[in-house]
Amino acid sequence: MAVTTHVHWDHIGGHRYFDNIAVHELEQDWLSVQFPIPLQVVKNNLTKYPCDFPAGFDIDTYRVFQGIPQRILRDGDWLDLGNRKIQVVHTPGHSPGHCCFYEPERHYLFSGDLIYKGCLYAFYPTTDPQLFYHSVKRVQKYKISRILPGHHQLSIPVSLIDEIEAGFAQIERNGKLKQGNGLFDFGDFQLQI
Ligand SMILES: [Zn+2]
Ligand SMILES: [Zn+2]
Repeated sequence: MAVTTHVHWDHIGGHRYFDNIAVHELEQDWLSVQFPIPLQVVKNNLTKYPCDFPAGFDIDTYRVFQGIPQRILRDGDWLDLGNRKIQVVHTPGHSPGHCCFYEPERHYLFSGDLIYKGCLYAFYPTTDPQLFYHSVKRVQKYKISRILPGHHQLSIPVSLIDEIEAGFAQIERNGKLKQGNGLFDFGDFQLQI
């Protein structure tokens, strides 16, 4: 089973290798009907910075994955991996169906694009900075021993959640928590809204 935190092109590139795909209900159509961001915008993103694409990758024939999910996820659902159980925590904002995955036994949080060290994005039309902030506050309440983020460095301190929450709080206090207000730099992370 392939389970991703959300249906963005940089998270579903390997979906075609799986027969069993799980997706949050709010992004079901992004997989099986239409991806909401124009293909050219995605391609511009992929080629924005120089990088070594995998062998056989051709930007001209590239398409965002489309397919029928086998399982629809909702907040509170459990993923049973046999000897490990992981709970779905719906954390919208970066995208409407973004989920984190929480493993109570180990207190691990698979945080996707909600929490990582680097630039956090809530500027696309399908994002929502207020919801993003709300989702950060939600995961802040969990007991967490380790964060497994979707991008950049794997070893990040759990305290980063509090720092990101404080960043959003500051933007909100200044009346700036609205899409289109640009990039806010907090050192270890940036918020682009
Ligand atoms: Zn994303
Ligand atoms: Zn991502």
